[in-house]
Amino acid sequence: MLTIKKLHKSYPIGDSSLHVLKGIDLQVNEGEMVAIMGSSGSGKSTLLNIIGMLDEADLGEYILDGVPIKNLTEKKAAIYRNKFLGFIFQSFNLISYKNALENVALPLYYQGQKRKDRLEKALFHLEKVGLKEWAHHLPNELSGGQKQRVAIARALAANPKLLLADEPTGALDTKTSYEIMDFIQSLNDEGKTILMVTHEEDIANMCKRIVRLKDGVIMEDTAVNQVRASQYV
Ligand code: ADP
Ligand code: MG
Repeated sequence: MLTIKKLHKSYPIGDSSLHVLKGIDLQVNEGEMVAIMGSSGSGKSTLLNIIGMLDEADLGEYILDGVPIKNLTEKKAAIYRNKFLGFIFQSFNLISYKNALENVALPLYYQGQKRKDRLEKALFHLEKVGLKEWAHHLPNELSGGQKQRVAIARALAANPKLLLADEPTGALDTKTSYEIMDFIQSLNDEGKTILMVTHEEDIANMCKRIVRLKDGVIMEDTAVNQVRASQYV
């Protein structure tokens, strides 16, 4: 699914720079469910954003589904992003003045799909996350867990090969976190490849593999016995 070799990333800070990623090697295969862990500021989001083509590395190789991601025009990058990737975030990032259905339909708009098809598919995905009855509600009428479900439905709408999640449970209470993890596990059971960032050990243990970042490199990369979230919900 993706291969990263000797990836480096620095941010300019005044006259100097902050070297955040110092040679990352990572391979993720289809069907995996991987947690990226590390303390705050260790570069987890930086790595995920590069993988998600929201940011670019300074050095190194990145191949996504056979496509070398380097020096792509913004237009090409947008096409690959829409075709390959779905995102969810800690803060949900829903559009506040659009209802749940319109939020979910948005990626399909960017793909140029017809309005009728978009809304039909969006409703299908909202139903999948259990929110069909909430289709016409605005984000601020939904609970945190419901908002994240809408965000997941939106991330899945264009049927991406890879789902990227940056602290998807970070803004949720424990019970709701496990409900969301239960749903993410069910997606992985169906074959979706998942790469998520978390700093919570119990959430990471619900993945199948944990990659630990420290001082800009991967200091540990191990398979784990997946804890099922369903036992807590
Ligand atoms: P994490 O997600 O693990 O908490 P980040 O990837 O967000 O870490 O950040 C890694 C380091 O890079 C932090 O020290 C952060 O302050 C810094 N950083 C992140 N984004 C930027 C940016 N756009 N400009 C400058 N520094 C940044
Ligand atoms: Mg982060």
